[in-house]
Amino acid sequence: MKLVSTNPSFESQVLGEVTISTEEEIVQKVKEARIAQKEWESKGIKFRAKCVRNLNTLFEENIEEIASHISSEMGMPITQAREDVESGLNYLDWYINNAEEYLGSETTYETDNEVHKVFYEAKGVAAAIVPWNFPFSNFIWQAGQNLLVGNSVVMKHSENCPLVAKYIESIVNKSDIPAGVFSEVYGDGEVGKILVKQDIDIICFTGSTNTGKYLYSVAAEKFIPILMELGGSAAGIVFEDSNIDEVLDSIYLNKYINCGQVCDGLKRLIVHESKVEEVSEKLKTLLASKKVGIATDKATDIGPLVSKKQLERLEEQVSDAIEKGAKVVYGGARPDSLEGNFYMPTLLTNISKDMKVWSEEVFGPVLPIMSFKTYEEAIELANDTNYGLGGYIYTNNKEVYKKASKDLKTGMVTTNNLSYIMPFNPFGGYKKSGIGRNHGKYGFRELCNIKVVAFEK
Ligand code: NAD
Repeated sequence: MKLVSTNPSFESQVLGEVTISTEEEIVQKVKEARIAQKEWESKGIKFRAKCVRNLNTLFEENIEEIASHISSEMGMPITQAREDVESGLNYLDWYINNAEEYLGSETTYETDNEVHKVFYEAKGVAAAIVPWNFPFSNFIWQAGQNLLVGNSVVMKHSENCPLVAKYIESIVNKSDIPAGVFSEVYGDGEVGKILVKQDIDIICFTGSTNTGKYLYSVAAEKFIPILMELGGSAAGIVFEDSNIDEVLDSIYLNKYINCGQVCDGLKRLIVHESKVEEVSEKLKTLLASKKVGIATDKATDIGPLVSKKQLERLEEQVSDAIEKGAKVVYGGARPDSLEGNFYMPTLLTNISKDMKVWSEEVFGPVLPIMSFKTYEEAIELANDTNYGLGGYIYTNNKEVYKKASKDLKTGMVTTNNLSYIMPFNPFGGYKKSGIGRNHGKYGFRELCNIKVVAFEK
């Protein structure tokens, strides 16, 4: 059985095929990962960092090739795909440079007679399951820290980007990372289900909350930990004093980059009533200046959605909003001239809470704008979601953004033109946006067993 890879910029352009892993192959890969892990862990952090450094170098030599695979298979505009690869490598570099410090032992107590030390030990075999929206960063974010702590990784990449996954695996196979320490299995959710049934020690998952819920039950049954980076419906709040010209580009990027297919992207804009007209007019003009086009074209700002399924879901969400009274300020349809999974960047006002664009995660280039009168109302609207991943505050009033950053029930918050996306910051969410954190010292420790030993001196 084969996974057929297609180019979302076109109606039906087949890029290649990848054989779906059988149950036997999955069982075998996990067995090999179990054997390889023991030696990988025992070699110590300096050895592992050297091997992962070598992998990083090989990736650096192939940035253009990886970006080109991402762009044609997943539909990310080529300039953004290159940034995805460079950003992933920046993360990997940080993990390598800091692993020794954060995985070193710590003394918690010491007297003349005794010393108590905490050690961070590898968990064992990690089953990593990732989505398609940042095919390279999704891989780095779930595999990088695992490899450095001494876990082996069996990864299942998304069925929407099997060629990117194959290419990544081929580079790992050329690196100094010993055989069996990292491997991939190929297929859709059914393959993922088989993978997590195996003899594994931790599940590392990035994807939707629905799948996360299922995997949580699998982890409970096996009594193993699970790290989950799930969906989001981040609000951006534009306060009365905000200088729209200064933050317009940031609002645009936080919403429309990667065609709006970003887990912690800005998905609902909550604007003070005095600013709604200015924000919607200026955003409309900005959207009209953006090029919607074939992903591999360097001039493209907004590419296609990854699949017809995602496009149809988005259309259903917009139709539901229009039926319930939303006003289309810009977009609201597929572009006439393109045949792939394209949707115009869209701006909607007159939003009510019963609309799907408000209550569901919108994974595409559609932004609903809701207005507010008071600070309390803005926070209530922002927190009116089952998710709690990102939060965006637009104001020049320090008191307001300090208070709002506390009041938002999300794992990450940023103000104006800043970004929290940094390898040393914890990434993760409250509520149904996940459990645990990637990156920084936080990410390393999620993947370790923590042991304390009381030594006599
Ligand atoms: P998805 O949950 O459908 O699929 C994610 C991965 O899980 C894929 O590899 C898929 O094959 C696999 N899978 C599906 N069902 C499975 C099952 N029953 N058992 C095991 N594996 C299974 O999600 P998606 O549509 O591919 O990705 C989009 C979602 O991911 C969005 O909700 C987005 O917000 C979220 N996401 C979150 C983050 C984050 O860091 N929080 C990052 C990127 C994407």
